[in-house]
Amino acid sequence: MLLIVKERELLNQSEFEQKHLEDELTLLIAKIQREESRLYGGEIANPKELKSLQVEIKALNTTRESQEDELLAKIDQTDKIAGQLEKLKQAEIDFNKKAENLREKVLLVAEDINKAIVDKEKKKKNIVKEIDADLLGLYQKLRREKRGIAVAILSGLTCGGCYMEMPQIKNAEMRQAEIWRCPNCRRILIEL
Ligand SMILES: [Zn+2]
Repeated sequence: MLLIVKERELLNQSEFEQKHLEDELTLLIAKIQREESRLYGGEIANPKELKSLQVEIKALNTTRESQEDELLAKIDQTDKIAGQLEKLKQAEIDFNKKAENLREKVLLVAEDINKAIVDKEKKKKNIVKEIDADLLGLYQKLRREKRGIAVAILSGLTCGGCYMEMPQIKNAEMRQAEIWRCPNCRRILIEL
């Protein structure tokens, strides 16, 4: 899932930034410790220098506080992204499970349909045996020529195959024949 890839990229980025902030803070803390040991180490006797070192340490501590705040916010962001990523992963697992269930159902239905087709083909073979060979030949020829529809229903004067209305006289002529054929499309017509 594309969403997971994107969320993982966000997490990597956030973790990278978090690591950078942590490193920066570690360096700053080390620097403060160094300056503090200079301040309390007794090496500096000049009061002016001591004062300026105190001021510097104070400033460094202010920076430290803001860096700590920034790091906490980043940790929070990383946690949220990680949580979101977990949700997406779970959703993907659920989705795949549902898809698998559906696939199984579709396979079962397809199996039933195939069985039904085999059954119908068998029945068809038995019926075809009883049909007149010429009529069957005509039916098969029309099926090929008329895009699978060889027989149409006649409603009133309208052919259900080509939807043309035939004149009364044609209708009367047609009814004389043993097998009714549409004067327009030549399909076999039946009346229900
Ligand atoms: Zn017709």
